[in-house]
Amino acid sequence: MPPYLLDPVVATVLAAAVGLCIGSFLNVVIHRLPQMMERGWAQQCAELKGETPPALPRYNLVVPRSACPACGHRIGALENIPVLSWLLLRGRCSGCGTAISPRYPLVEILGGALAAAAIWKFGPTWQGLAACVLLWTLLALVCIDFDTQLLPDDLTVPLLWGGLVANLFGLFVGPSEAVIGAIAGYLTLWSIYWLFKIIRGKEGMGYGDFKLLAALGAWLGWKVLPLIVLGSSVVGALIGIGLIVFKGRDHNIPLAFGPYLAIAGMIALFWGPALVKIYFPA
Ligand SMILES: [Zn+2]
Repeated sequence: MPPYLLDPVVATVLAAAVGLCIGSFLNVVIHRLPQMMERGWAQQCAELKGETPPALPRYNLVVPRSACPACGHRIGALENIPVLSWLLLRGRCSGCGTAISPRYPLVEILGGALAAAAIWKFGPTWQGLAACVLLWTLLALVCIDFDTQLLPDDLTVPLLWGGLVANLFGLFVGPSEAVIGAIAGYLTLWSIYWLFKIIRGKEGMGYGDFKLLAALGAWLGWKVLPLIVLGSSVVGALIGIGLIVFKGRDHNIPLAFGPYLAIAGMIALFWGPALVKIYFPA
């Protein structure tokens, strides 16, 4: 083992604490990024139609300050402590008493737990740090796709480039394995998409899914792609069938595939190399 700057246990605890705060920021991203995209589209549509785009107040990841969507109560610093504030407020807004979704503390806990797991597995190294960035981005994508059936380019495309850069230095796989992974990831789902469209005349997934699998290929190499596609299809199909059977969901409504891809990617980050050895014995 290389000598670390930090003791691995200390580093893991530190990662959990930092991860909680990043999780808090991810909640903002998950909530605001889709709305920022919608505003952007509305502006572009207005411009294309030759209208003056509506002047909207500034809205991005920093401005305006977080507020209760029900009463507009500004969330102060003390009410913004990850998990703790939600517990102390008993999951209610201090202004109007409206329930605050338990998903907020859940995303914070996951942000902390994923970071701790990454640092525990990869050590307080560049590899560990890169793994944290990958996991946090995937966590945001899972929630956004679940909510809106969108995988924003603003996340998937930088993730793809990030994976290529990380593996330029061979953090997870060699550079050529990463480049082939990115291309193969995109083309695999792209081909399935067109096959599905020609045969059934329906669209089963979106371009965001192709970009997400390309990003996972860039991070983890082409060898884990069969594992990710198979794993996410099986889980997605089981949940999809469950929803149709038990909840009477219309099977014509497309299911978001992105969350399963992203979760399979998280699993592949930790256990992919071990699993790949089973079907690609070196
Ligand atoms: Zn309120």
